[in-house]
Amino acid sequence: TVSVVLFTSDLRLHDHPPLRAAVDAADEVVPLFVRDPAVDRAGFAVPNRLAFLADCLTDLDAGLKERGGRLFVREGDTVDEVCAVVRRAEADEVHMAAGHSAFARERERRLRKELESAGCRLYVHDAVTTVVPPGDVTPQGSDHYAVFTPYLRRWSAEPLRAPLAAPRAVRVPSGLRSEKLPGRASVADVSEALATGGETEGRRRLGAWLSRHADAYETRHDDLAGDATSRLSPFLHFGAVSATEAVHRARARGGPGADAFVRQLCWRDFHQQVLAARPETAVEDYRPRLDHWRRGAEAEADLRAWREGRTGYPVVDAALRQLAHEGWMHNRGRLLTASFLAKTLYIDWREGARHFLSLLVDGDVANNQLNWQWVAGTGTDTRPHRVLNPVLQGKRYDPHGAYVRRWVPELAELPGASIHEPWRLKGLDRASYEYPDPIVDLADGLARFRHARGRD
Ligand code: FAD
Repeated sequence: TVSVVLFTSDLRLHDHPPLRAAVDAADEVVPLFVRDPAVDRAGFAVPNRLAFLADCLTDLDAGLKERGGRLFVREGDTVDEVCAVVRRAEADEVHMAAGHSAFARERERRLRKELESAGCRLYVHDAVTTVVPPGDVTPQGSDHYAVFTPYLRRWSAEPLRAPLAAPRAVRVPSGLRSEKLPGRASVADVSEALATGGETEGRRRLGAWLSRHADAYETRHDDLAGDATSRLSPFLHFGAVSATEAVHRARARGGPGADAFVRQLCWRDFHQQVLAARPETAVEDYRPRLDHWRRGAEAEADLRAWREGRTGYPVVDAALRQLAHEGWMHNRGRLLTASFLAKTLYIDWREGARHFLSLLVDGDVANNQLNWQWVAGTGTDTRPHRVLNPVLQGKRYDPHGAYVRRWVPELAELPGASIHEPWRLKGLDRASYEYPDPIVDLADGLARFRHARGRD
């Protein structure tokens, strides 16, 4: 028999149930990735993610070659391309991971229909891209959890499948056509310090981080300059690292740091199950609590200053410049820049989410849109009226100013925490720093937000 394995958001060989099932069942396997223009049109095709994807595919191909196989790449509509490969290879079955977006579910429905009429079976494997499949745990009377803590309790009690080893050998049929693998070098406008992608790098990072940094994670994860988080998000987004395996290995390590890390992985599943149940929340408010967002020329200018990291609030600007330079931003930075845009500037969260998605290498519809909603106060958060003050956030999470100094070099000479309030400098001292004055007065922003909230 011949099996096709369709890789989507699961670009790895370890802990890969569809590949394992195909290798176990068939004589020959076709590992396949389809570059689908429909995915690009849905907003995926930004340089940072395309470059990271290219790394992942190159690494996957290399891993398959070490095992006697290779990766086949096609370009076009996924359903058409899979069917063409099935016909050409005379395949009996197709294996793939379950996807949870509206797009993925529609793709699966179409594929099932086409394959059935061609006499080929489709096997869709759960718990490949998430630890717990969306919809597997639900509260009474609803199809998803809207509050994190009870979800975490149920999620933590779910049985965890043992991670699967990578197959030792993969035999591929001969005579099949493949497009050239897209190389990272062919992608223009990539962020200067973008991380290297691929399963090999992801596994190295997971192992190194768990053994060296996990213990300090609970106390240090919010330290902006310390950069103590795992930076695994792009690998998890592309499935180059298995979230199930990450949970397993963190639990095996144990301790408060590893527990806190597992809790973050649960947040990932939490947002996935919300989006799977409410696909419209990728663009619409989950709970429409706020409206009449600021529009017009002044709001446009503020939005531009925010995007460019020129708001006059050093920690906000530092985080936005980190995003531009690395295609990644520290979680504390994401929280405070998002709160600043949506609550202090009172600009529609969708504008901020769009900017993040245009640069984030881990840019993910569920995690990005629903975290934005969570911060903006239109989502599943239980404290929708909380506003993060960027000066206090800076002093608390960057107490010595090292993070700001790294990303806002024009302020680098300001000592200690004074870097968070350059406007306090007087006269010539102030004039010697080429850095904008704050674009908004925090008290005015707060008053505007309270007024808007009163309209609920
Ligand atoms: P770690 O702290 O090491 O956490 C481990 C993993 O847990 C992460 O890799 C990630 O997969 C998951 N995780 C951590 N925090 C969250 C969270 N709040 N929600 C969901 N999963 C989480 N994450 C994305 O992966 N893609 C996005 O597009 C994205 N957009 C965001 C937008 C905003 C406004 C905010 C506030 C958060 C966003 N996050 C997003 C969540 C979080 O900021 C990143 O996952 C995290 O910063 C990645 O760094 P890390 O891998 O070092 O995380």
